[in-house]
Amino acid sequence: MPKASFYTLGCRLNQTESNLMAQSLKGIGYEITSFKGGADLCVINTCTVTGQSDQKSRQSIRAIQRANPGALIAVVGCMSQMLGEELFEIGGVDLILGTSEKMELASFVQKLQAGAEPIVAAGPIAKGAFTIDLQGQHLLQTRANLKIQDGCDFLCSFCIIPQARGRSRSRKLDNLLAEAEGLLRSGVKEMVLTGVNLGEYHDSGLDLLSLTDRLAGLGVPRIRISSVEPTTLSEGVFERMKDPRHPLLPYLHLPLQAAQDRILTLMRRRYNFAQYAKFIEKAINLVPNLGLGTDLLTAFPGETAEEFEQGFARVRELPFQYFHVFPYARREGARSAGMVGEVPADEVATRVERLRDLSDQKREAFARSQVGQGLEVLFEGKNPHQHWQGYAGNFLRVQVKTGEALTNQIQLVTVEKVEQNKAWGRIVEAV
Ligand code: SF4
Repeated sequence: MPKASFYTLGCRLNQTESNLMAQSLKGIGYEITSFKGGADLCVINTCTVTGQSDQKSRQSIRAIQRANPGALIAVVGCMSQMLGEELFEIGGVDLILGTSEKMELASFVQKLQAGAEPIVAAGPIAKGAFTIDLQGQHLLQTRANLKIQDGCDFLCSFCIIPQARGRSRSRKLDNLLAEAEGLLRSGVKEMVLTGVNLGEYHDSGLDLLSLTDRLAGLGVPRIRISSVEPTTLSEGVFERMKDPRHPLLPYLHLPLQAAQDRILTLMRRRYNFAQYAKFIEKAINLVPNLGLGTDLLTAFPGETAEEFEQGFARVRELPFQYFHVFPYARREGARSAGMVGEVPADEVATRVERLRDLSDQKREAFARSQVGQGLEVLFEGKNPHQHWQGYAGNFLRVQVKTGEALTNQIQLVTVEKVEQNKAWGRIVEAV
């Protein structure tokens, strides 16, 4: 049986798509193996969100070529969409597929197997609702990503996603539900709704929240909304999260990006700081034990030391469980590329480090706030120290010591202590 490997850069959506592509390759007889060596076909699913991402994607392609001599090399995804045949300059690349074409990977691979010359296919991205070819068997996973949407119309000034992934479009409901049913049959306990701008999902009269109701009706045990734009959620989300009969988990990842209005305007974000803070204040008040995360993009062109300090103080006060911190990186093609006021590299590094330290402190404080709580934890497997670990609904990672096998089980756990940033618990009962 020929072997194929995947190396995925970038976001959760890219990971979701790699899983789907892997299934389609299984459908034409491939076994999926590690990218570290021994593959006949290596797929690199790229990211182009910053100049650094491009560099990382290129380095990965070269490293994978070295580790898999003689393998067919397919470079797919966002960087392929943006650069197209320029990527042949790397040498040794057999297949370049853009954002739409990568979902037809299996048929392009069959063309290569039939002796076709190296192929590049990275055309305009289709508009309108889309479907995903559902082939092959799902592996048993505890948490599975379910792609419901792609692309974005928001045109934030720092972001190239609208070019790399096209405008917002939703997955057709029937096709999405068919995958959800397949995942349920294979034993999946949690579905993580993924997309670029999830709040823009609309198909067959459903929006994001009514879609969660529909999935609840199928019997999905847990539903998690991955990162979602702050202005796109209505307050109905709180009702569902606090209803113990609804499987929507009490977790929100709402990218704030900056906590100063001048910078938010330059970024072309669609809210000001006060609006964002008001929304999360409501969320915290209405949803018991909510887990709240955010993205912060620091050192945007022209961000002064005073503005950074003001933003730092503001995010310190907000009830976040964690932040993902990104340093601003100039991205050719993004609107912000021409903005003046680049922050010096050493200052960028300092701002990133301070925010990441603050995030670590918040993570620890959140974990401590959970001591004594009973949380339903979905166990995924053992860590290298042979302790079982899984995630609670609010995304707290919990570890337990037990001789029982817990893979893919939801257990009620009492959080007993936090040590070195890790929450430890004791199983109370199976749910
Ligand atoms: S909302 Fe803004 S940052 Fe997010 S994908 Fe759309 S343009 Fe990019």
